[in-house]
Amino acid sequence: MIAEIIMNSSVRNLDKTFDYSIPFDMEDKIHIGSRVLVKFGNIKELKEGFVVNIKDKSDFEVKDISKVEEKDFIDEAKVNLAKWMSKRYFCNVSECIKLMLPPGTGTNNLENRAKEKTARFIRLAKSIDEIEFDIESKKIKSDKHIRALRMLDKISEIPSKEFEEIADVSSAVLKTLEKNGYIEFYENAVERNPFLHKVVASTNNLKLTDEQQSAFTAVENALDDMMNSEFLLFGVTGSGKTEVYLQLIEKVLEMGKTSVMLVPEISLTPQTVDRFIARFGQEKIAVLHSKLSVGERYDQWYKIKNGEAKIVIGARSAMFAPINDLGIIIIDEEHDSSYKSETTPRYNVKDVARYLAKEYSVPIVFGSATPDMDTYYKAQNGDIELLELTKRANEASLPDINIVDMRRELANGNRSSISMRLFEYIKQNLKDKKQTILFLNRRGYSTFVMCRNCGYVAKCKHCNIALTYHSKENRLRCHYCGYEEIPFKSCPECDSGSIKYSGSGTQKLEEEVNKMFPEASTIRMDVDTVTKKNSHEDIINRFKDENIDILIGTQMVVKGHHFPNVTLVGVIFADGSLNIDDYRAHERTFQILTQVAGRAGREKEKGNVFIQTYNPDNLAIEFSKQQDYKRFYDTEIKIRKALKYPPFCDIILIGFSSENEKNVIESAKQMYMCLKDKIISEKLPIILYKPVPAPIDRIKNKYRWRLIVKCKFDDKINDAIYECLKDLESKNIRDVKTIIDVNPSNMM
Ligand code: ADP
Ligand code: ZN
Ligand code: ZN
Repeated sequence: MIAEIIMNSSVRNLDKTFDYSIPFDMEDKIHIGSRVLVKFGNIKELKEGFVVNIKDKSDFEVKDISKVEEKDFIDEAKVNLAKWMSKRYFCNVSECIKLMLPPGTGTNNLENRAKEKTARFIRLAKSIDEIEFDIESKKIKSDKHIRALRMLDKISEIPSKEFEEIADVSSAVLKTLEKNGYIEFYENAVERNPFLHKVVASTNNLKLTDEQQSAFTAVENALDDMMNSEFLLFGVTGSGKTEVYLQLIEKVLEMGKTSVMLVPEISLTPQTVDRFIARFGQEKIAVLHSKLSVGERYDQWYKIKNGEAKIVIGARSAMFAPINDLGIIIIDEEHDSSYKSETTPRYNVKDVARYLAKEYSVPIVFGSATPDMDTYYKAQNGDIELLELTKRANEASLPDINIVDMRRELANGNRSSISMRLFEYIKQNLKDKKQTILFLNRRGYSTFVMCRNCGYVAKCKHCNIALTYHSKENRLRCHYCGYEEIPFKSCPECDSGSIKYSGSGTQKLEEEVNKMFPEASTIRMDVDTVTKKNSHEDIINRFKDENIDILIGTQMVVKGHHFPNVTLVGVIFADGSLNIDDYRAHERTFQILTQVAGRAGREKEKGNVFIQTYNPDNLAIEFSKQQDYKRFYDTEIKIRKALKYPPFCDIILIGFSSENEKNVIESAKQMYMCLKDKIISEKLPIILYKPVPAPIDRIKNKYRWRLIVKCKFDDKINDAIYECLKDLESKNIRDVKTIIDVNPSNMM
């Protein structure tokens, strides 16, 4: 038999199969998805590859496979998914396969791979009857020995260290018992369990409201009929979406199948996971996300593979977990940009979910208060069934939202970051012992350092981007590459000493707040304060448990947290996301503002939200005041249609980067010409734009150019772009990295 093998490599030229013959003694160990070691070219050491097909004979003279990995492989269905992804996302099959392997095992280097953790276990080496006989006949005399042996009889498997503790015996005692032939030591796997010692009070199903019930029933019917249908559960924050998910998962459990629930990475907090543990117990749950150690993730992966875990909760990569009886896919906060990968493979997990849902004939539930324009458009067209929850489940009312025109504040002589009205409300909130969240999506102290005399702006040496001033470390810092320098006292260009620091970040806001409200306790949450393993959690917990008055933070504060005592939310500068160079600027702004507003008044007390802006008439801001997604959607969709943006077409970004500017431009031009020829000769319905520098045209010393293609992305266009990519490679323009991103979530 012959195996077709793809090498574990991201070199584009190696994205093809190589034939190897399967030695007789490996025949039942090798199947599609196996990891094997082979001799490759003239390379001395063996190289790893993945078996992607098995056939009877080869047209070539072939070498034998040298070795096969008996663990850590994937199945044929996953190989097929990898092949599909590789074509659609323009990357190597092996790069996609790596997403599907046990965490920590993707590397070619066997030494560095995650593996099972083992420990020394003990068990009885004789039957308990024989032991009792020896006790009777005084062959065993010591009370300690007797107690230990009788206790061990009652426990089936235990690491010896653990036994020493609970039986209160020394390792010397165990050694003696081993020497006398009563017990034996052996190596066994131990699970690294991230939930160990976790105690969560269990909860029962709540009685669903009418709206929840009809949403539940719609999906339940699809489950019963094994329909591969899609649903959008559209409901404001607090409308009880999670309760619907919980009850659907219960239903899937009853069917004996496994549920996948995706949540944005940042909201994968212990609180989120706890709600699931509280309902289902931790034995059935596996969690996959980047905050777990590699070892923990490895064990969680095997917990799924072995069929122990029936509920998989995780960030986007959890979609690749080794599930063999998939029952439902739930994607919560489906509009979140973390569902799109920004590194190779640049996949959108919703596409992958759709592929798998079809394969297994299971439903997908997308949930959001502010659905992605594309998802809602599909719901309008009937491709997705719309399920609405219009009210908050616990009777809490939605907050009052006030727009504050900051131009007027300036005119009235208020130069601080906080408007007069917000100031008054914070004061009152402090008196009432209620909590406040202030949201500002810019970190650091000043985001802009400029010479008043000549207009010189401090920019990164390696990136074409302004440096941000960080006051605590007294450094100017690049948020793209981490470059730092000491702030200058006089302008490097004109020597003037008049340097202006403008654009407040969270550091400066915290300082201002501390000056304005010296009596208030504050805590800050942004990339600079969230550094250690758990400190995102720590900050959230401290804010909640210590009843800290004011939480100041970036986007991190907006996702999914439930703070019962927060009644006031201030958005300090709503315009940040409006000014980005992206067709989704309005959508992002509306989403963020709605989410932040959703943090206020989630219990009995009514919440207040202040949105401070220099563009009070902007659509996204106006509609977020009314919390009216549908009106926002109706307006925005018209703009998208007129300008031919998604969902009316796909955007394919072809990016080129290199330290060599000439080669970057040359590559972009070659690609452009190739595509242009194809459009003409194959009559492709594509709008192709001329190559231009990217909005940030240099990052980490690499020049960046790009091409944009607008089209309905289909197989024909997929092939055409692939051919041009191959054509470009054959030109051998050196040191240029080419990436192709289908509907990128970041246009910079
Ligand atoms: P969402 O996921 O839409 O933000 P949740 O499911 O977290 O909403 O529900 C918000 C709050 O309402 C929670 O405290 C939840 O326990 C409560 N809740 C949800 N459904 C019901 C129900 N049917 N009856 C009573 N309380 C409910
Ligand atoms: Zn100057
Ligand atoms: Zn930089």
